[in-house]
This record gives sequence, C-alpha cells and structure tokens, in this order.
Amino acid sequence: MTERIEFDGRILDGAPRINMSRRAIITGIAAGTVFPFVSSCTTNPATGTNQLVFFGDDQVASMAASAWTDMKAQTPVTANTGLKNRVLNVWSRTIQGAEKEGHVPQGASWDVAVFDTDDVNAFVMPGNRVGVYRGITELTENDDQLSSVLGHETGHVVGRHAAERLSVSTLAQVSLTASQIAIASNDELSKYGTAIGALGGAAMQFGVILPYSRRHELEADRLGVDYMHQAGYDVTQSVRLWELMDANSSGQRQPEFLSTHPDPANRAAALRQYINAKGYALM
Ligand SMILES: [Zn+2]
Repeated sequence: MTERIEFDGRILDGAPRINMSRRAIITGIAAGTVFPFVSSCTTNPATGTNQLVFFGDDQVASMAASAWTDMKAQTPVTANTGLKNRVLNVWSRTIQGAEKEGHVPQGASWDVAVFDTDDVNAFVMPGNRVGVYRGITELTENDDQLSSVLGHETGHVVGRHAAERLSVSTLAQVSLTASQIAIASNDELSKYGTAIGALGGAAMQFGVILPYSRRHELEADRLGVDYMHQAGYDVTQSVRLWELMDANSSGQRQPEFLSTHPDPANRAAALRQYINAKGYALM
C-alpha cells in the first residue's frame, strides 16, 4: 500500500486537500526542483512582487491535475443547470475582465465545477481549474458579489500564490518526513535521501511556513476588484460580500472561506479604501 502524504489544505482556498504519494513528491524533487531555488526568486509581471517559487508552473499544474480528478470523483457536482449557468456566466464575464486587464491570456480555457455541498467556499487550482460550492453561491445576494469571489480567486492565479505556497509548504512537509525517508529500505526512496535532506535543511534555514498570507489575500482582493471593474460589475459589492461574511461568522457555522481568509471587517475596509483610491466608486 502506498503511503500518502497529505498536503496542508491551505494550498487551496478552503478545505480541499491534495493527496500525493511520497513517491510523487520525491520524483518531483528528483526532477530538479530542489536545486534551482537560489535563482528562482522571480518577479511576477502582474503584481511586481518578488516570489520564491520552487516549482515551475507545469509541475504545479500536474500535481493539481490529480488532486482535481480526485475531488471531482469524491464531491458531487450540482445537477442544477440554472445554478451552473449562473456561475459559468459570472465566471466568463469576470475572466474577460482579467483578460482586458492583460493579466490572463485571451481565450484560455478554464474548467469550472460547481460542487453541490453547503460549504461556503471557492478555490482555484493551478492548471485553470475553478471550484465553487453551492453554499457560497447561496450566501451571495447578487452576481456582483459572486464576481467578487471569482475575481478574488483569479487574483490568486495571477499572483501565482499557489505555486509560492506549494513550494513553501512542500518544504515544510518534506522536512517533516526527511528522517522517515532517510531510513526507508526501498532503494528508490533512499536514492534520493540526500536531496531530501538538503531540502529539509533549506526548509529549516528559511524557517517559514506561509499559508495564503495576508499579503496574498489583500493582493487577490485588489486584483479581483480590478477585474470586476473591467467586467462592468459593481465593485462596491465586494465590500458588501465581506460584510456578509463577517455577519455570517458570528453564527454557529462559520464560512469555510473565512478559515483561510481572516479579518473580514479589515478586508472590507481595505477594499473600500482601494476602490476609492482607484476612483472606481465613491464609498
Ligand atoms: Zn483567497
């Protein structure tokens, strides 16, 4: 039986977890992902920030591909065509906003799934995959608010936040398992023992674990509002969405979106400020 290593669900917005076999991780590492990290602090063209990225986009996408397949096999997809069409329409308008902004390629294809669960959540996966739960669509009062959720998720894609976070969380993960792997009797595993050890050391050296950081969240919020504006949605509804999340969080059932997206009231305030500063609206 293959032992599975569970990545922190924070790779994504919300709860879904990526299960990868240890071998898959080691193969990825052996494929050269350990070594380029000194030179892989790159500047993201859309956000202008420096990023420490250990995995290439292709590698991240292939890891996400198997996780996405698993998710779609395990989680029911909605049979409600009205709901599905609503999400697809808002998605396509929002992504066109991002295209107008020049942040995503024109006419790229996206795989959008609407999952039929109460989760108040949405997420993106590398490789142009978007997951939206029925629960979050029910929280939104209008398409502008839904666009705000989807624009935010697009912002995570454009900011390459998953790649950055996957890198760091893999480091942390591998450092935890390095000792186990070092004593593995399997030839294939022990062959890569040194590389794993080096990576574990690097992880300890950096000494950081980054969830979607506050910086990522605020960046995604701002990008999302830019895309809403380009798409002709009412950007002020993004503030209202966070107020709704905030109001919802005092009930017994806290939206899962909030577990990875803290401080809704602060974020509403930051968005309000951004919207005013950009001149999108006066509020
Ligand atoms: Zn987020």
